[in-house]
Parts: sequence; C-alpha cells; structure tokens
Amino acid sequence: GESAEIAEPRTYSLEKGEELRFEVENESVQCQLIEGKAELFGTELRLEQKYTFQKGAKVAVFTFHGCKLKLYGTPEVEYVASETPMTIYLNLGNSLEGLREAACKEDKHGPNVLVAGPTDVGKTTFCRILLNYAVRNDRIPIYVDLDLGQGSLTIPGNIGAVVIEKPADVEDSFQITAPVVFHYGHLTQSKNTSLYNIIMKSLAEVVDRKKHNEPSIKYSGTIVNTSGWVQAYGYQSILQAIEHFAINVVLVLDQERLYSELVRDLKSKPAIKVLLVPKSGGVVSRSREFRSEMRDQKIRSYFYGTTAKPLYPYSFDIPFAQFTAYKIGSPNLPDSCLPIGMKSTDNSTKLMPIQPSSSILNHIFSISCSSSEQDLDKVITTNIYGFIAVTQVNVDRQVATYKCYSVSMLPDERQNLEKGGKIIMPPS
Ligand code: ATP
Ligand code: MN
Repeated sequence: GESAEIAEPRTYSLEKGEELRFEVENESVQCQLIEGKAELFGTELRLEQKYTFQKGAKVAVFTFHGCKLKLYGTPEVEYVASETPMTIYLNLGNSLEGLREAACKEDKHGPNVLVAGPTDVGKTTFCRILLNYAVRNDRIPIYVDLDLGQGSLTIPGNIGAVVIEKPADVEDSFQITAPVVFHYGHLTQSKNTSLYNIIMKSLAEVVDRKKHNEPSIKYSGTIVNTSGWVQAYGYQSILQAIEHFAINVVLVLDQERLYSELVRDLKSKPAIKVLLVPKSGGVVSRSREFRSEMRDQKIRSYFYGTTAKPLYPYSFDIPFAQFTAYKIGSPNLPDSCLPIGMKSTDNSTKLMPIQPSSSILNHIFSISCSSSEQDLDKVITTNIYGFIAVTQVNVDRQVATYKCYSVSMLPDERQNLEKGGKIIMPPS
C-alpha cells in the first residue's frame, strides 16, 4: 500500500505581533519554540520544549517580541497571521490588573468580569487568556463557567467555579482540581429556567464565601464564561448572571447587536462597564457533530482520564435501600385540570424520588453534598461531589452497580452515599 508521507519539520520566523495558527485533524502535531518569546493563549512557551497537540486542537502561537518556531507533523491547516486582537486583549488584561491593584489597596472587590458573545467567537479562549494574564501577575482569580454544553470545568450539563492558581497547560488548558459544581442536568438553559437561575445564584454565593475567606481571591476578582446562546432566555440568563456575580465589567465578543442590547439594559447601572471586543480571525467554527463528540470526550475523560493521565474508575454495589435517587422537576399541571380558581404550582425545581430500576442503567448521577438529614429543598442549592455512572442494575438482588471516578470521590464521600446519601439524576 501507500505509505503515509512524513512531512519535514518546518521553521517559521514570526515578527512582533504575529501568530502561527494550526488545526490538528489526524495524528498529533508538535510545536517547539527555538528562539525568542512566544505564548499560547496567554501561557508562555518554554524554549526548546516540544509541545504535542492532539486531534481536534486548534491553536495559535503568538509573539509580542518576535520568535522562531519549529512545527512537526501534518496539521490540516497551518499559516502565519499578522492581524490579531492580542494587543487589545493584553491592554484589557492590564486594565483589569489596574483594578485589582486598586482593590488591593482599598480592600475592595477586584473586577468581576463576564464574557459574552454568540457561538464560536472565542469566548472560552479569551477567558483563558485573561486568566493566564491574571495568574502571571500573581493573582488567583475565580473562573466561573456557565456554559452547559461546552463548559471547561466539569462534564456537560452542569455549571461550576474554580480558583485558578497556575497558568493553563500549553497542551491541555487549565488543570482543574476540586471545582465547585452545581447540578443542572440539561444542555441548554431553557430546559429549566427556574433551576438554572437558582443554581447560578447558589454558585455565586459559594464564590462570595471563598472571597470572604481569602482576601487575595477577592482582590483578584472573577472571570465568568457564558454560553453562545444570546437570544430569548439565553440573553435573560446573561442579565441574571450579571446580577448574581456582581459583575462590573461585561466584555462582549464580536457581536454589535448583543453589545447594544446590553448597553441599553444596563443603562440604569452606571457602575457596570460594557465593552465590545473584537474576535480573533483565528477562531474556528465547530460543527454540531464536533461539539457532541467533545461532550462525549469530556465524560469519557472524567471517568477514564486522558492518555497522558489515565484514571482507573472502580465499580461498587449499593443496595437500593441505601440511597435515594431523585430527578429534578415534574411537569406542571395545566390550570384547566385544577378546580376553578386554583393555580398550578411551579414543580420545576421539586425533587421527585425515582424508584431504582433498569431505567437508570447507563445514566450518570450527580452525588449531592447535602446530608441525608438536610431538608430536601436544600439539595438543588447545594453543590455536588462528583458523578457516578450506573453500569448494572439487578432488580432481583435490589442492587445497582456504579462506576465511580477514582479521584474526585474520596472514601468518606462514598460512605456518605452508602449511608443513604442523595443522588440526583438528569431527567432523560
Ligand atoms: P462556544 O460558543 O462553543 O463556547 P467559543 O466562543 O468559546 O465557542 P472558543 O472555544 O474559544 O470559542 O474557540 C473556538 C475554537 O477556535 C477553539 O478550538 C479554539 O482553540 C480556536 N481558536 C481560538 N482562537 C484562535 C486563534 N487565534 N487561532 C486559532 N484557533 C483559535
Ligand atoms: Mn466556549
């Protein structure tokens, strides 16, 4: 047969302000800085080190000073771009740093930033850059990701926050350890708007507590990433997030319409700055299939890790009698079914117990941190430990077998479950 062509390594000399962009389609691609200084989405590259990028990676290596790079392997696309918004991003980063310094002096809150924009404008990448610049200034900002579909902190269908203390990994973005996560159970905010608003508020309260306990987090501020759905409830949820997270800087990527809507709706709050920020020409649109593949990948790597850092999940049995499983919400009765004059109540955030049966097979459950003695209503406003996947249900023996993430679930958390902890299932 035909032997695959092995491409010769290429050397690129970049001028100040240029970036080398490439997209990895098949086998991996390696990139090496051989002279000068360069950064990848805000993380500085080490001289000589060969960084490996896997299938699906779409990256840009930027230089403020000029540099020489070597590229190995065959990316789908590779080119040098001289027009990038990186200087604008750096200036924004510097302004935020100014606000942090002021906050530090006056013992006030640092900037709480929300990044908004339609899909595929580089919101997540922009957050990564801003967080990296903050960390490089010795700050420890909180990163909140409200994106349910392509979130970066946990598996799809949930929102969370984490303190960022180190620059992102060049190959792998931020190493997320122990994020605070709230269960939602759907991929879009519109599926249960009451629940989404409640968990955003609860998450914001946790963020506030962290800042209260650790002033350097308070001075560093927050970066909130959002989803690309900017219409209807998507837009409303942005306004809700601005309120809950006490946002004072809104950065709108690319879309003028969204920008002017936000300016209009935030006019009564002059303390909130809204800025329109250009997107990078390098941002790559991703297909529905690609997004769905990324979500599966996220779940797989939660349980099994990555090739570089594999995880070995273990299985264990729990008798039905030792846990309670719930799903959130039941359909509201239409008013026409009720006696005249009675209004139906909102059941969308009620916990409904579910009888373990083969129907829970292959479902992923969130394990609630709320204790068994606690009020049921508290479950949705309490964060979760992590996730388990149901791999077997034995109705005769009345046990379910779970596959459990071996790192996030500590023994005492498992005990909590065995003692009759609560687990919540995303409605199918
Ligand atoms: P979503 O709407 O799905 O949340 P987003 O607006 O957050 O998307 P990103 O995920 O940041 O967009 O970027 C989309 C893709 O473009 C990513 O794969 C990212 O790595 C790539 N990308 C971003 N900036 C650049 C750049 N300057 N050069 C090359 N690729 C880039
Ligand atoms: Mn994103």
